[in-house]
Amino acid sequence: MRSPLKPGATIGILGGGQLARMLALAAAPLGLRCHVYTPEKDSCALDVVHEATIGAYDDEAALARFADAVDVVTYEFENVPARTAAILSQHRPVLPDPKVLETTQDRLVEKNFIAQLKIATAPYAPVHSATQLADGLAKVGVPAVLKTRTLGYDGKGQAKIATTAEAAAAWRALKQVPCIVEGFVNFQREVSVIAARSADGTVECFEVTENEHRDHILHISRVPAKVTPALDAEARRVATRIVNACDYVGVMGVEMFVVKRGREHHVLVNEIAPRVHNSGHWTIDGATVSQFEQHIRAVAGLPLAKPKRLGTKVEMRNLIGDEILGATDYLTQPNTAVHIYGKGKPSPRRKMGHVTRVWPGK
Ligand code: AMP
Repeated sequence: MRSPLKPGATIGILGGGQLARMLALAAAPLGLRCHVYTPEKDSCALDVVHEATIGAYDDEAALARFADAVDVVTYEFENVPARTAAILSQHRPVLPDPKVLETTQDRLVEKNFIAQLKIATAPYAPVHSATQLADGLAKVGVPAVLKTRTLGYDGKGQAKIATTAEAAAAWRALKQVPCIVEGFVNFQREVSVIAARSADGTVECFEVTENEHRDHILHISRVPAKVTPALDAEARRVATRIVNACDYVGVMGVEMFVVKRGREHHVLVNEIAPRVHNSGHWTIDGATVSQFEQHIRAVAGLPLAKPKRLGTKVEMRNLIGDEILGATDYLTQPNTAVHIYGKGKPSPRRKMGHVTRVWPGK
């Protein structure tokens, strides 16, 4: 195993958005520097990093120079091109191991991977043709959700199919690219587990977080989630199985649906994100260690902390688009932390900041 990074060492981060920004802010108290690689010179992480390389993800010379200037490379998004990761890996360790990207960049591969671990998901089927879509719907039933296999996020690349008569229109709406069709899950709530795993195999999960979406974008995350201790344990077990199966190093977000079967509640895994996750932002102000610090610790080869919630409950609210214009109103609210990402113009679905409220008490 590699020896831990020492103060003054540099972590390279692919991507320069708010996740990279919050990773860099978490690295600083550990004496670690961050060097961001991003194609966009107005990336919001650039305000807080030690160094930046502005380059395209296929600029092999710039990637090689970047890798040589850092001690380890990590990333803030899952659509890192395979070739980019391969070039970087020739120079420095890339963590989490890029093989997890092949799984998480394709919804079909991801679902097969989860199913092969005997972890429950919504029923699903691959769709490469109109005939396969009809067969898939016969298998998963209606209502259903058609999703592009790659590049979907925040509800993009998805179409609901309420009845089989809507199938052809949904397939056309998604431009007939390779898809999966999933049975529509009548879930009770949506939750996530943020799991951290270090190179020695230690896993630390944050408590289950309850997530409320608006227009397919995360709106509010709350802890504690309204789940039983048994369900909390099941959700953590599932997340732990997934990170162990990938021999993962870093923080992963595991999104799940809570469903009721008879009198019992269970989780179905919807999606995994090989990175720090929006539903873990509450941990910055609401826990003894943040998801960002856990990720930095893991990729730096440092021991993980045992996370514990601060306060009786915590709520994180995203500030989307123009909501950022009211961010400073929260400054006078009790026990509330304001996070403004420093992005330029607010556009309607853009994540511009978040606020976290911690209710004090034990
Ligand atoms: P995803 O891009 O897969 O994370 O989906 C975005 C959101 O769409 C989820 O957070 C759910 O609210 C909803 N959704 C996705 N898949 C399903 C499904 N199979 N059944 C019901 N709702 C779903």
